Amino acid sequence: MEPYFLSARYFDAAQNVIPGGVNSPVRACKSVGCNPVFIDRAEGSIIYDVDGNRYIDYVCSWGPMILGHGNSAVTAAIEEALKNGTSYGAPTWREVELARKIIDMVPSIEQVRLVNSGTEATMSAIRLARAYTNRKKIIKFDGCYHGHADAFLVKAGSGVVTLGIPGSPGVPEEVVGNTISLPFNDLETLKKVLELEGDQVAAVIVEPVPANMGVVLPLPDFLPTLRDWTAQNGIVLIFDEVITGFRLAPGGAQEFYDVMPDLTCLGKIIGGGLPVGAYGGRAEIMQYVAPAGPVYQAGTLSGNPLATAAGLATLEVLSRPGIYELLGNKTSLLTEALTEVAAGLEIPCHIQAIGSMFTCFFGVTGPVYNFEEVKKADTEMYGRFFRNMLEAGVYLAPSQFEAAFLSLAHGMDDMEWTVEAAEITLKEMAEAETE
Ligand SMILES: *Cc1c(COP(=O)(O)O)cnc(C)c1O
Repeated sequence: MEPYFLSARYFDAAQNVIPGGVNSPVRACKSVGCNPVFIDRAEGSIIYDVDGNRYIDYVCSWGPMILGHGNSAVTAAIEEALKNGTSYGAPTWREVELARKIIDMVPSIEQVRLVNSGTEATMSAIRLARAYTNRKKIIKFDGCYHGHADAFLVKAGSGVVTLGIPGSPGVPEEVVGNTISLPFNDLETLKKVLELEGDQVAAVIVEPVPANMGVVLPLPDFLPTLRDWTAQNGIVLIFDEVITGFRLAPGGAQEFYDVMPDLTCLGKIIGGGLPVGAYGGRAEIMQYVAPAGPVYQAGTLSGNPLATAAGLATLEVLSRPGIYELLGNKTSLLTEALTEVAAGLEIPCHIQAIGSMFTCFFGVTGPVYNFEEVKKADTEMYGRFFRNMLEAGVYLAPSQFEAAFLSLAHGMDDMEWTVEAAEITLKEMAEAETE
């Protein structure tokens, strides 16, 4: 039988009842030129599709599964919580425990509010920053993703300062007219904008290490300067650590780089595979949130008993000593081996990595520092790489502009096979080039 027989049939059926057949656009695999595989189950570092194909998983649910799939501590916590019901819409002690754990791990957070997704976290943090400063404008950076709330869907246009142009139909220009999107790592441009309108800016929101245009590293002075300038202008600095939180270090990118934001947005890992998000920061600002203060933000399922159980169990494992060294070492081994393979075959492919995440930028020979440079990557080549790796049993992100994630469950055998599969794949690609 054809290897993706059931997946293809399911995708056909899905397209009749779900727009595009998927519940989040990147899952459709359009940019890598194939159809998605439907997943049946997962265990450790491996996911299985409905046709029985087995893949080493480097998507890890786009980040959350840092312990691997079906971690026993997390599963046990969910099972235990399940016995007592699934939702009450009233306070539970575990919410306090999770809040305390987050505050304990993330250095700048003094108080925290739990929500259900990263999008909710960033959306709420912006509302809070606007209320706290009594200003309207926000600054973001091109290529950084902060969820799908209207205010963040701003396409980066040309010119030095990109005025707000909606990145999606359905987003009124009035809504994004207050959003300024600037090139990442570019302090000159930021300086000019702050000189002109710094006193109208409520917040600067940034992925401290962008991972939604592929992994891009901040230049050494970028985050510290961002901290200084926002403080000087009375602007709330928001780190969107939905990916980097609990990924780069127990305390996220802020711990890794020792730069403290005013507010932090969390998601993904914090739910251990169940839907959770959070935003938190200085108590003085967080006290503006209802019912302590006037800024309204609510959620029927916020602090859900199963989600908090999964999140708490995940953060407890991540608090053990040596975890991040282990994850980092594994990732270095893998990325170094992949770099060597590509270099040996003279395939242009530059890997950017930090902690346990990385991106192979195809068609690129040196570091890329912003969205303009990232866009030069060869998406055709990545598409070919993706499809061949999938056939070889390695599941990568179905887009050039995403990160690959490792988990604690990834073993030496997984990485050896990944390197071997990459060698075979890249060799074929090199031969096809020369034909
Ligand atoms: C995934 C992501 C979000 C959105 O989180 P959702 O849970 O998908 O709503 C926001 N910011 C960053 C940096 C993300 O990677």
